[in-house]
Amino acid sequence: MERTMTLATMKTALFYGARDLRMEETPIPHPKPGEVVIRVETALTCGTDLKTYVRGTHKMIPTLPSPFGHEYAGVIAEVGRGVTELEPGMPVVTANSAPCNQCYFCRLERHNLCENLRFLNGAYAEYVRVPKRIVRQNLYRVPPGVPFERIALLEPLACVVHGVERTGIAMDDRVAVIGAGPIGLMFVRLIKMTGADVIVLGRSPWKLDAARRYGADHVIDVTAGDPEKHVRELTDGRGVDVVIEAVGLPEIWERAINITRRGGTVNLFGGCRKGSEVRIDTHKLHYEEKRIMSVFHHPPRYVAMAFDILLRGEVDESVLISDHLPLERLADAFEKMERREALKIALTP
Ligand SMILES: [Zn+2]
Ligand SMILES: [Zn+2]
Repeated sequence: MERTMTLATMKTALFYGARDLRMEETPIPHPKPGEVVIRVETALTCGTDLKTYVRGTHKMIPTLPSPFGHEYAGVIAEVGRGVTELEPGMPVVTANSAPCNQCYFCRLERHNLCENLRFLNGAYAEYVRVPKRIVRQNLYRVPPGVPFERIALLEPLACVVHGVERTGIAMDDRVAVIGAGPIGLMFVRLIKMTGADVIVLGRSPWKLDAARRYGADHVIDVTAGDPEKHVRELTDGRGVDVVIEAVGLPEIWERAINITRRGGTVNLFGGCRKGSEVRIDTHKLHYEEKRIMSVFHHPPRYVAMAFDILLRGEVDESVLISDHLPLERLADAFEKMERREALKIALTP
């Protein structure tokens, strides 16, 4: 069926709370000055959305019920007043936020920590309205021939580019990535591009195979034996130079710190449930000089880098996108991810 702008309503997924996702008919949005409305061609599921779906809340979802979904690409349907360089029919992709450039943190060049960061949700719908600030700073025109589902990886890849850049990985480092979900796998791919050696710890054999496809040098199935011992055996008992935690569970944060060598760096990248706490051996932390850091989200400069990486075809989307489903089956998509049977799922409205 042909979809046209004359339709007054559209299908939208609205998130009401834990495991409560409803497909509703809502009015097709129209852009305010400086905004655009994009017809979504592909939306991707995201581990953050899965966490929200299961936990019922997330920093990116301030009120309920909420539009949902933030990884997508599509075609401009309508442009608001004052938008001069874009027009209907253009294929585009956007990130899911943009900073204010005025607050204390923006002035510190820590744009991802912006006090006024507003998140775009609503990609799990036929149309999405994009705020002016994102149109200005984080919207990219997609050249012909680039598949929507590849370029829709822009936002998560920007987070990972940010993670890799901030961690500071040297070519001769040995890096452990814990977690073989989409974020862990993107870390594997980008870290291999730096030349470092990568060990991946995961629990699904088929996801560990995906890690191998992205160039992982060693994979460890954490369900078999003692994975921390296994890592020590691979590193002459020292532990790895750099660890990336891409799971988001307190016990895995503790494991990440444990397998880092003296003087090594651990990037606790996976966000845990609000109120979570971890136990840290303070003696080891101090006397072994472990550097513990966390990286959240992405400033626009890393979105730009991620866009270039995707245009160059350096991240094969077929490794990450394991399934395709119609948008109506969004809840099934999350259930499938939760059962560890899918990486990313591409949804078509
Ligand atoms: Zn995401
Ligand atoms: Zn700001």
